[in-house]
Amino acid sequence: MGSIRAGVFLGDGSHDIREWSSPDPPDGGALLQVEACGLCCSDLAQLEGDTASVASSSYPVVPGHEVVGRVAALGRGSDALAIREGDRVCVNTVRRCGICGPCRSGRWCEDIVVYGYMPISRNPGLWGGYGEQMVVESNTHLIRATESVSAEEMTLFEPLANAVNWVEKAGVRPGMRVVIQGPGHQGLCVQSAVHAAGALQVIVTGKANDGLRLETARLLGAHATIDVDVEDPVERVRELTDGQMADIVFDIATGAETVPLALRLVRQWGRILVAGYKHSGPIAGFETDVLVDSGIDLLSGTGSTHESMETAVSLIESGKVDTKALLGEVFTLERFDEAVGLLARRLPDRDAVRVVLQHR
Ligand SMILES: [Zn+2]
Ligand SMILES: [Zn+2]
Repeated sequence: MGSIRAGVFLGDGSHDIREWSSPDPPDGGALLQVEACGLCCSDLAQLEGDTASVASSSYPVVPGHEVVGRVAALGRGSDALAIREGDRVCVNTVRRCGICGPCRSGRWCEDIVVYGYMPISRNPGLWGGYGEQMVVESNTHLIRATESVSAEEMTLFEPLANAVNWVEKAGVRPGMRVVIQGPGHQGLCVQSAVHAAGALQVIVTGKANDGLRLETARLLGAHATIDVDVEDPVERVRELTDGQMADIVFDIATGAETVPLALRLVRQWGRILVAGYKHSGPIAGFETDVLVDSGIDLLSGTGSTHESMETAVSLIESGKVDTKALLGEVFTLERFDEAVGLLARRLPDRDAVRVVLQHR
């Protein structure tokens, strides 16, 4: 029985590292040796004790929902998972039972399990990718992944699966002009999916402290980036689109001010898709009359689907996503503090397009 370490959030802004004995795989499920786990902005809300989101967390918790792992052991009766010991798999964060009424009609499962959000009080406690090992239950959607991309890069499948879902929902087609507000790793994944969908023009906006992220957006093929602290985004988008404005605006920023701004960046009959939590309550200055006057469709981006997960993994495997540019910085648990500090942008003069934990 080996000693398994895991990063743990306590729910009051603090975190530590705890040890477990290696658990047995549950019946119908599996035990994974986690290879790598991407850190996400929503992990920060979780760190601070936020319980308002759909996957409201109880504490203490082993977080981490962008997980790539290797199958270490299979539980009894786990044939339905369609995996073998030694396989590298990407974990679909959301486990649905597949048989309840809401599941069958495509709504949230009555017995939903969201990996990275279940407290350690639920046995065996290792439910997230911040742990060196993690258990998954029956009915978990696991996608077998190639060995030709590193596990750290492969963790991008999770935000990319969201992106693929949202880009499809918003209806990005070849020839369209798209603005993406917010150049965090989720915004940059949306950008990658928008390029893959064949958009004509892609403009990414950010703030003065987003220099590295906007540079990455250009590296990924953005036709232009806008620092909204320096330039007027409305004027600049007008200029860049020859007065057409954007067919679709993705608001992936964490601040609230980008929501009313999106109304001014989109064309008549255009679409706005808002994704990611604002953690800021009601949004001031959002005029629904503009939506109505201009026939603008307002859409929400909520997670991924079974299909978008599969698509994201194959997009990465096909080499169509620049996973090197999007990788960011990789840390082991020895530098957990630093990883969380960098994610929270609390380290002076440092930034990363993404932060990834790697387990050995
Ligand atoms: Zn995430
Ligand atoms: Zn269900």
